[in-house]
Amino acid sequence: MSRRAFRRALVTGGAGFVGSHLCGRLLETGADVVCLDNLATGSRANLVNLQRYDGLRFVQADATDPAAWRALPGRFDLVLHFACPASPADYLRLPLETLAVGSDGTRHALDRARRDGARFVLASTSEVYGDPLEHPQTETYWGNVNPIGPRSVYDESKRFAEALVTAHRGVHGTDAAIVRIFNTYGPRMRTGDGRAVPTFIAQALDGVPLTVAGDGNQTRSLCYVDDTVDGVLALAASDEPGPVNIGGGEEIAMLDLARRIVDLTGSASRIRFVERPVDDPARRKPDTRLARERLGWQPRTSWSAGLERTIDWFTRSVAA
Ligand code: NAD
Repeated sequence: MSRRAFRRALVTGGAGFVGSHLCGRLLETGADVVCLDNLATGSRANLVNLQRYDGLRFVQADATDPAAWRALPGRFDLVLHFACPASPADYLRLPLETLAVGSDGTRHALDRARRDGARFVLASTSEVYGDPLEHPQTETYWGNVNPIGPRSVYDESKRFAEALVTAHRGVHGTDAAIVRIFNTYGPRMRTGDGRAVPTFIAQALDGVPLTVAGDGNQTRSLCYVDDTVDGVLALAASDEPGPVNIGGGEEIAMLDLARRIVDLTGSASRIRFVERPVDDPARRKPDTRLARERLGWQPRTSWSAGLERTIDWFTRSVAA
């Protein structure tokens, strides 16, 4: 397992939830970081507490725009391609943009990594497995995706991006890797983005009913953002091409998650069952043996610690 250190990183989507945590961690290690983001779903506010680092530079630009890439000066030794609307509410609102950033955006990012001789990591997703017929999902599983279903813009954008990475590596020898991230939660998620953790926390803090889809028995394996960042950076520092699954070990039913959040916030909110979205996967659980064996990675944050930190952040941002 090789370990490399990076001096100058480019993070596309760096003003988003996961991207801003990645920028923070890279800055902590002493790297200079350029964050390229069009703010479609991210926010400058996510970078406010990173402004104390001299090494941070924010560039508001679209990753699909070739001129934006040409205008980026200097050479990078790491390119993390995280730009993409990621929550269902966002990618359903921005379907063509989601497909474009997975295709054109990924191609520009790969071309830049190749030009600079940089290590490249694509943020792919557990959604490439679709509504999986295998549990838990290993990286060798091909997935069960409806190419014209409502979620397809996201799933297929990422599947195409994975194919691009693989082809770029094959044709040009680009030092490129794929990480398949499973549901991640933590501070800087947005309450309106439709994902379960921020939605439930906001509802609990507002004292309104927590809206659980279907009967709430559908499960997810949620990973705290610090652990996800550890996994992404361990892959970046390695020579592994991936794909590598990075995700939480503990599978939880959405109804149990809602109840835990009600308990932890001390809220008087009740649970209200609502219609389940079409193509919402019934189960999702990563097999993370590859990450453990090849990267020495495993999630470390307990459910209660991760949820408490997230609730604390939401409480403070509501008060601010
Ligand atoms: P997010 O919406 O908070 O962040 C995405 C960022 O990309 C935003 O800041 C947005 O403004 C930016 N962006 C979108 N399109 C762009 C474009 N064309 N050009 C430049 N910037 C653009 O989402 P997130 O949850 O932080 O997800 C980040 C990445 O991780 C995404 O690629 C997503 O697919 C992947 N991922 C996230 C999760 C998760 O649970 N959060 C799970 C699997 C994969």
